Amino acid sequence: DTEVVLVGRSNVGKSTLMRELTGHTFDTGQRPGVTRKPNHYDWASEDFVITDLPGFGFMKGVPEDVREQIKTDVVRYVEDNAEKILVGILVVDGKSVIDIIDRHSGDEEIPHDVEMFHFLRDVGIPPVVAVNKMDKVDDREQRLNDLCDRLGLYPPWKQWQETIAPISAKRGNIDALTEAVRHHLHEAGRDDL
Ligand code: GDP
Repeated sequence: DTEVVLVGRSNVGKSTLMRELTGHTFDTGQRPGVTRKPNHYDWASEDFVITDLPGFGFMKGVPEDVREQIKTDVVRYVEDNAEKILVGILVVDGKSVIDIIDRHSGDEEIPHDVEMFHFLRDVGIPPVVAVNKMDKVDDREQRLNDLCDRLGLYPPWKQWQETIAPISAKRGNIDALTEAVRHHLHEAGRDDL
C-alpha cells in the first residue's frame, strides 16, 4: 500500500484541495484546530491513499509550543513512512508564499516551506509544490520563477513542471498537480492514478 502525503501551512487550502482530489467533503471550518492527526483517504485506486497531514506554522489562537509539536509530528510521520510515500505534495499559497519565505529568511531561520521542501527530498520523497490560489495572482510567471529561486531550483519554472504545479483548488483547476503526481508515480512504476 502506497501513499501520497499533503503537507503545508494552515490556511493554504489543503482542505479545499483534498476535496477536489478525493471527492470527500471536509469541514474547512474545523481547521486548524481539529485536524491534528494524519487522515487517510482513497485516491483513484483502492490500494492507494492520500494522507492529509496537519497544517503547521502560524495559527490564530494556537500557542507556539503546540505549533512546534504539530510540525514535529508531521516530520516524524513522514520519516516513519518514507518507504511507502511516493510523492509529497507541499501546498503553498501563491498569493503570499514569497513574502512569507522572505520574511522568515535569515541567518538562523529557514522558512517552513523551504525546510519542508528540502526535508522531503532528503528522505527520498519527490516533492511537488502545489502553488494554490493562483486565481489571485496577477504576475504568474514572475511569482513562479521567484518561488523556484527561493527553493533553489534554477528558473524558469517551466523547466520544473514535475515539481512546481500552479493550481486553484477552489476553482477546481488542479490539472498541473495531478499531472506532476502522475509523473512521479510513473517513475516509481505505479500507473494507477
Ligand atoms: P487549510 O487550512 O489549508 O485546510 O485551508 P482551507 O482549505 O480551509 O482554505 C483556506 C481558505 O482559502 C478558505 O477561505 C478557502 O476558500 C480559500 N481557498 C482555498 N483554495 C483557494 C483557491 O484556489 N483560491 C482562492 N482564492 N482561495 C482559496
